[in-house]
Amino acid sequence: MTTLLLVALPLLALTVLPAPTALMQDLNQDTARRAGTQEPEVSANAPNQVRTIVLDAGHGGKDPGTHGRYAKEKTINLNLILQLGRKIKDKYPNVRVIYTRTSDHFVDLYERGAIANRNRADLFISIHCNASPSSSRVYGTETYTLGLHRTQSNLDVARRENAVILQEKNYQQTYKGFNPNSPLATIMLANYQHAFIASSINFAEKLERSFRQNASRKSNGVKQAGFIVLWKTTMPSVLIESGYLTNPDEEDYLRSEEGQEEITTAICKAFAQYKQEIEAEG
Ligand SMILES: [Zn+2]
Repeated sequence: MTTLLLVALPLLALTVLPAPTALMQDLNQDTARRAGTQEPEVSANAPNQVRTIVLDAGHGGKDPGTHGRYAKEKTINLNLILQLGRKIKDKYPNVRVIYTRTSDHFVDLYERGAIANRNRADLFISIHCNASPSSSRVYGTETYTLGLHRTQSNLDVARRENAVILQEKNYQQTYKGFNPNSPLATIMLANYQHAFIASSINFAEKLERSFRQNASRKSNGVKQAGFIVLWKTTMPSVLIESGYLTNPDEEDYLRSEEGQEEITTAICKAFAQYKQEIEAEG
């Protein structure tokens, strides 16, 4: 909280926005609701079991996401997510795999988390590709959980991924006036008290380790920022930035069959490890 105030106060002085106040009230109400014992969505999840997983291919349709010289982010995300789903089904026929999209179409950000909540998912994975505005040399993987960013570049990633809500119908009502261009609004969203943050970080760490060990990738580590797509999920949830399309070598890798095979194998191995660990606790 101290950190939030230190970061937020100078911004408050600069930003006159009624929207974050509305957002904060909403967040407080939600936190209070979750703190109670009557949370049906949480209590309905089977404890210590990973039975249902929701796989989210970032962007789609009118929202292409970022791009490289040839590749669109939305296409790579979808290829990775479908391949990952097949691998999980092969290894665990009893795990229910649900996709937020299986083709090139647009899905609102809030709906992606809502799909996971409605299906009482035990894990939510969103896959994206990254972009560096300043250098084509930046490369590597990053896995995000919901939380307060520590660097400007982490905040920039979240703002870029959140910006798509401006293309959604009624986004003012849906997101209670959330302004994706406002750093303050993103900070407030990041401080949402998520009951699943420890499990999310645990899984994110396994993912980044697996990218290093099983796909020889450069891991830029586990990071936190205010992502709308993770905001209301009532289960452990992560957002994987699988590589930089602004780096020509990494773009080639992300587009290649071999690269996609390595990435999805690495994610599947981290999933297997996480599932085993969670279920051993039961
Ligand atoms: Zn993205």
